[in-house]
Amino acid sequence: MKVAVINSGSSSLKFKLFDMSSGEVLYAVLVEHIGEKNSPMKTHHDALESIDVDLSSIDVIGHRVVHGGEEFNEPTIVDDEVIRKIEELTHLAPLHNPANLEGILVSKQKAPNTTQIAVFDTAFHSKMPQVAYLYALPYEMYEKHKIRRYGFHGTSHSYLLKECALLLKKETKELNIITLHLGNGASACAIENGVSIDTSMGFTPLEGLVMGSRCGDIDPAIVLYMQRDLGFSVKKIDEVLNKKSGLLGICNSSDIRDILQRDDDKSKLAIDMMVRRVKKYIGSYMALLGRVDAIVFSGGIGENSVYIREKIMNNDLGGETPVFVIKTDEELEIARQCLSF
Ligand code: ADP
Repeated sequence: MKVAVINSGSSSLKFKLFDMSSGEVLYAVLVEHIGEKNSPMKTHHDALESIDVDLSSIDVIGHRVVHGGEEFNEPTIVDDEVIRKIEELTHLAPLHNPANLEGILVSKQKAPNTTQIAVFDTAFHSKMPQVAYLYALPYEMYEKHKIRRYGFHGTSHSYLLKECALLLKKETKELNIITLHLGNGASACAIENGVSIDTSMGFTPLEGLVMGSRCGDIDPAIVLYMQRDLGFSVKKIDEVLNKKSGLLGICNSSDIRDILQRDDDKSKLAIDMMVRRVKKYIGSYMALLGRVDAIVFSGGIGENSVYIREKIMNNDLGGETPVFVIKTDEELEIARQCLSF
């Protein structure tokens, strides 16, 4: 059984082809700079054209879709109705869903008879209780406008849970764990009895941890102040919060490897701020979960930086709780989920 996974982002496309009977990766490619000036890859169509695989010869094609709203809680076969609904959800994820959709449309065009399945980043968090997903805003903001915590990186948190269960030789439903996906985008997840019961990203992937260029948690009144008193446009505020904040905003680099090489005060401060925020989330999730069977680090930073992991876990945070480092594999998780129903 051959399963291909297409992870189509705003300017990149990751493609992986798995032989699911052996678990082998038959082909993997990352196409970057799609649609950028002077790039030969103008569209996702060009990107898929450049891949040396006949899509119509594949059994199942899985697609990563960032936002599934409240509609999509599990892997879903892509038909015209599903495409329409993913399109409708674009207003909740304007940067991500259109790119995901483009990957789906091109791949449907190239392999019209192949089963195509959408796997949503939000789905793993869809069982969060209302006490976790509601914001303390007027209730109608949720009812009428669907303003709530959705959570993201769900495919990664779900993969980490399963791998952690293998390491602990337990069933996922027996486990209470905290998973930390620390990459350019970063999120923490509290998992109770195998279910995500809280996560740091919210209505959008902007909330929560201090990220490469995103601010994470701030007082929402700062946004009003920027608009009312500083005269910033909505577009400018969006850019400040998503693209100019986080590590980049504090020390002018969003790349931890680069920041760790430096010796200036701002670089140290940026690291300390990021670490402190992760600690705060671990502490609050320990309080929510009571018993914690493991803390799992993942993502480019979580997988690779001993220094950051040690800084987060110092002062005996977690006590005797086992700490695991697990390399995440969102594409493999998508491929597995494609076969799971
Ligand atoms: P994305 O969210 O874009 O998938 P990644 O998971 O690849 O991001 O994580 C990118 C981050 O991981 C960057 O800050 C990068 O500096 C950091 N990183 C990658 N390798 C290392 C390493 N060996 N040591 C420290 N940080 C690393």
